[in-house]
Amino acid sequence: MGDARRDPPVRALRAVRARSAVPGGGSRRVIPLDSSAQPASPRRTETRHHPEGSTCHHFTFHRLTCDEYDQLRARAAGRCELCTTPESETGGRRLVVDHFWDAGTEVRFVRGLLCDRCNAVMACFDERKAWGVASRQWEDAARNYEARSFQQPTAEAWSLVSEVRKARRARRERMRPTRSEPARLASSDGRLDASVRIPLDRPSDAAAALRAAMTADQLAALIAALQSSQSEAA
Ligand SMILES: [Zn+2]
Ligand SMILES: [Zn+2]
Ligand SMILES: [Zn+2]
Repeated sequence: MGDARRDPPVRALRAVRARSAVPGGGSRRVIPLDSSAQPASPRRTETRHHPEGSTCHHFTFHRLTCDEYDQLRARAAGRCELCTTPESETGGRRLVVDHFWDAGTEVRFVRGLLCDRCNAVMACFDERKAWGVASRQWEDAARNYEARSFQQPTAEAWSLVSEVRKARRARRERMRPTRSEPARLASSDGRLDASVRIPLDRPSDAAAALRAAMTADQLAALIAALQSSQSEAA
């Protein structure tokens, strides 16, 4: 106790040692006594882009070092790497790191920097989400963008990627509403009335629901259309 003033650094190290030796304190971080003996944790060094000097997002979430992140930013040159929109004109006013990731196969690689909209396109490309009319137009561009991925997977990993996508697509197709589920009514102005249900597996109930929802003229036109497509098919 009395030597506390004489040699404070040694005392500090002893305190660190004592704390990490606490029984049951296994989760406590052991601070190396000689910092030159071990490289510093990347969580301590990959902080260059963080405003408060904490570990950078790109390292925590994408395992990209600060140098790699700078290379990625230089490659993107201030534009979304899929649609080429300048960063300041993107919806989120920033570009986000886009990566492929699959928990099952543990395949993960960073593809590039994207605007939020193109990030959503890649979710469709990865079969995490169903394509929409707007996103589908970007499918070829998405394929070209992925081919230029910042981190290039091995040939083996690429084949896992396509298997993962195939499995995701099959799973989504299995979950698609079946014919026996009620359909929702849509009108030509694009509005949906979700409260109206047409039970497709019960024709007389379906007819009653349509009769209640449509005008007489609309019903007559529908009946005519059904009959004409029937004769076309025959
Ligand atoms: Zn950084
Ligand atoms: Zn974009
Ligand atoms: Zn991220």
